Amino acid sequence: MKRAKVNQNINLADYHDVWVIGEQREGKIHPVTVELIGEGKKLAEKIGKKVVAVVAGSEIEEEVKKLLHYGVDKIIYIQHPLLKDFSTDGYAIATSQLILEKKPEIVLVGATSIGRDVGPKIAAQVGTGLVADCTSLDIDPEDGKILQTRPAFGGNLMATIICPKNRPQMSTVRPGVMQKATYAENPKGEIEIFVPKLEEKDIRVKLIGKIVTDKKSVNLIDAKIIVSGGRGLKGAEGFEMIQKLADTLGAEVGASRAAVDSGWIDSIHQVGQTGTTVRPDVYIACGISGAIQHLAGMGESKYIVAINKDPNAPIFKVCNYGIVGDLYKVIPAMIEAIDKKTEFDF
Ligand SMILES: Cc1cc2nc3c(=O)[nH]c(=O)nc-3n(C[C@H](O)[C@H](O)[C@H](O)COP(=O)(O)OP(=O)(O)OC[C@H]3O[C@@H](n4cnc5c(N)ncnc54)[C@H](O)[C@@H]3O)c2cc1C
Repeated sequence: MKRAKVNQNINLADYHDVWVIGEQREGKIHPVTVELIGEGKKLAEKIGKKVVAVVAGSEIEEEVKKLLHYGVDKIIYIQHPLLKDFSTDGYAIATSQLILEKKPEIVLVGATSIGRDVGPKIAAQVGTGLVADCTSLDIDPEDGKILQTRPAFGGNLMATIICPKNRPQMSTVRPGVMQKATYAENPKGEIEIFVPKLEEKDIRVKLIGKIVTDKKSVNLIDAKIIVSGGRGLKGAEGFEMIQKLADTLGAEVGASRAAVDSGWIDSIHQVGQTGTTVRPDVYIACGISGAIQHLAGMGESKYIVAINKDPNAPIFKVCNYGIVGDLYKVIPAMIEAIDKKTEFDF
């Protein structure tokens, strides 16, 4: 399927409903799908439209059905043997065919590695635009235009972007940013099966094997507590101490980009605009100054604790609890205090 010509004279009234492009990996629904449904429902309610979840795959009907517990009005299951494994061509062609046939008004895609790959391709194939990496969405109830907000100019300002003339309005939304839809015991809604016109020759990349990484998996998105280290650690050894505090608290380890760029820790730990967006109950920032691009990824944490030797560090403007001091003294004292369950005394 080729890039569609952008048609400036479409009839906006022909387009309906809010679609969420669900994601599955190895036949398991990715959590971002439930976050997108939560956000899709909020938008749909404001304009009195329905929420439809779209999932592509093969032989995953039982897994797809689970989404009916999250309050969608309908699921469209794009089913084809060639969609068993993800391919940009296969998923983009199949989803574009569906969009061109059904004409959704809004299409939300997760800004995951898969969504960032396939989302722009779908937009090009259906002849619309796409606002990538949105951190918040709202809707103008008068005309149904979505207000898509994302960091711009290196994260130094937030831009709100609209798509006034084309449909669907498409956004990719970062995982971990939106509230998940709530689970209801009783499923509701219907499932429609869509069989796309897809041939082997349409898929230019062939999957010849899968290599499972032996890296320790890091789940920052679901972590209740995160202990993050920054340039203030002064070296990779600092992360051993961060890990110790994290183990003591049952937390995950995060990092600033400066720490990642210095090669002290793997990039899967990076929190921020170009890393993972997190919203834990407790975020402990150790030796992190609080640059806007870092705050963009953790500012929604319930409680922020900052440890920094500079009393003027910007992180102290956003934290709930601030400790001014040398992290190499503060963190061992915290670990000891937690081990002994004693009061802190710095
Ligand atoms: C387009 C773009 C995207 C970006 N994306 C990200 C992103 O996703 N995530 C991210 O983190 N950054 C990102 N950045 C980089 C960001 O601008 C900052 O450079 C980075 O966050 C700084 O990391 P830091 O706070 O660890 O280092 P610094 O800003 O150097 O701060 C180190 C802090 O440690 C403190 N310190 C030093 N020694 C000690 C000690 N012994 N005890 C206690 N405190 C101490 C210092 O007072 C200082 O406040 C991005 C930048 C751009 C332009």
